[in-house]
Amino acid sequence: MKRRTFCAATVAALTAAALPYRRVVAAAAELAAIGLDGRQLTLKSAEIEELRARLRGELLLAGDAGYDDARRLWNAAFNRKPALIARCSGAADVIQAVDFASAHGVLTAVRGGAHSLSGQSVCDGGLVIDLSPMRSVHIDTGAKLARVEPGTLIGQFDREAQAFGLATTAGTASDTGVAGLTLGGGLGRIGPKFGLTIDNLSGADVVTADGRLLRASAHENPDLFWGLRGGGGNFGVVTSFEYRLHEVGPMLFGGELSYAFSGARALMRSFVDVMATAPDELCVNVDFDTDDKDVRRVAFDVCYCGPPARGETVLAPLRRLGTPLTDKLGPASYVSLQGAADPVKPNPYGGYFKGGLVRALTPSLIDTAIDYLEAAPLSSGWIGFQPSGGAAGRVAPQATAFWNRHATYDMLVGALWKVPGDGAERATEWTRAAWTKLESFTEGYYVNLGETQQDAHAHRIQAAYGGNYPRLVALKKRYDPTNLFRLNANIRPA
Ligand SMILES: Cc1cc2nc3c(=O)[nH]c(=O)nc-3n(C[C@H](O)[C@H](O)[C@H](O)COP(=O)(O)OP(=O)(O)OC[C@H]3O[C@@H](n4cnc5c(N)ncnc54)[C@H](O)[C@@H]3O)c2cc1C
Repeated sequence: MKRRTFCAATVAALTAAALPYRRVVAAAAELAAIGLDGRQLTLKSAEIEELRARLRGELLLAGDAGYDDARRLWNAAFNRKPALIARCSGAADVIQAVDFASAHGVLTAVRGGAHSLSGQSVCDGGLVIDLSPMRSVHIDTGAKLARVEPGTLIGQFDREAQAFGLATTAGTASDTGVAGLTLGGGLGRIGPKFGLTIDNLSGADVVTADGRLLRASAHENPDLFWGLRGGGGNFGVVTSFEYRLHEVGPMLFGGELSYAFSGARALMRSFVDVMATAPDELCVNVDFDTDDKDVRRVAFDVCYCGPPARGETVLAPLRRLGTPLTDKLGPASYVSLQGAADPVKPNPYGGYFKGGLVRALTPSLIDTAIDYLEAAPLSSGWIGFQPSGGAAGRVAPQATAFWNRHATYDMLVGALWKVPGDGAERATEWTRAAWTKLESFTEGYYVNLGETQQDAHAHRIQAAYGGNYPRLVALKKRYDPTNLFRLNANIRPA
């Protein structure tokens, strides 16, 4: 099955079963919910009605119109049923929802674009702070700044900025949310040239666990600003992001180039040599995936953000790696390249993922990945590599909460299955078996791939934050001492 939806990222995801909670029927006067400590608690009807009255947006309960849409995630493996969904219209609604969650100690998930691979933006029995109604984008062309609300999808952001020939690094699939993507770091097609998304973040408005709305920037609450850039949603709910923009396109050069898998070992060694001297303007995502006829291949997703007239010359060495199966390289708008890997909506596939950051595509890593794919054929399974070097690698590990700056690729291993269907077990086993071969090549992990409750091992989370971990724990103690924001790559305050 051709993998259309990912250009790699690193993940560990979960199967449909998550928290040991079963939906408890709401009695007329009260609603059963799950607390932060995992225990069941009861919310009185008057308390729920008070929250409803305080919100400008809707408050949804099971059975309400829109409830099922609002709890759906990109990863169809998850079918979680929150007690309450607060569909926020603005920062004031977020403050009300956070105050309610704190006062009642309700398990709380924060949802932006719903692309969490680990399913942590929706929870069984808890409160979901749903930011998807907040989608305004304001472009200041003079200052080259964008103010973006947290429910915005990257395709929407790209479109607004590209109307003025501007952009900043933002993912590879246009229906990914800016919020989660940014807070975890943010890899994207123009990342090698302009850095991670967080390297282009100039400020944010955040509702912290005590219900205050704080401005975070280099000048205001700089410690919080540091933690937001890579800390993955641990410190509060961001209600507005401000990004620096760059002149990009609108026409670039890129597209898909693929080769037969049979020659993958030699091809990938030559690919590494080509990329060693490539300019930062060239970004190539590599996937060992399958085509529409389930034939395994090596697929390059190519974006060259330099002058399009130079595209043919810059990409010639990639085209000479062998005889391409497909060659769709050519002039293309940045918006169309960003939409190139878009999934069908809603995505009908569940997925189970593992991933980690690697320092280099060494011959031994390449051979191990290829050996596994040859020994364990599964058409819905793939191994991919997304560039994380270039400008992102020239930022000091201590400059933001994103520690693993030495990595040059983010490796993602995953397998999909149709939902409903019975492929979850096989896909999960396949991915886990691959990971036993590949994990030792990783040096850290990327929090946007979201370790799940099931897979969350403290050492993996600490590896993501590396030497920044002690400073992050201190920040967590200060801004979220009760760990209200725990459904993420969690930094425990204690
Ligand atoms: C198809 C696909 C393609 C992807 N491609 C890339 C890629 O190219 N580059 C890359 O870097 N990553 C990529 N990812 C990973 C992606 O960055 C993460 O899944 C990210 O969390 C998605 O953000 P979201 O807002 O859509 O997610 P959501 O599911 O809405 O949120 C994920 C988590 O982010 C936190 N969060 C969300 N909004 C807020 C907020 N406003 N305030 C505080 N915390 C918040 C919460 O902890 C939440 O659990 C991809 C994922 C998918 C499914």
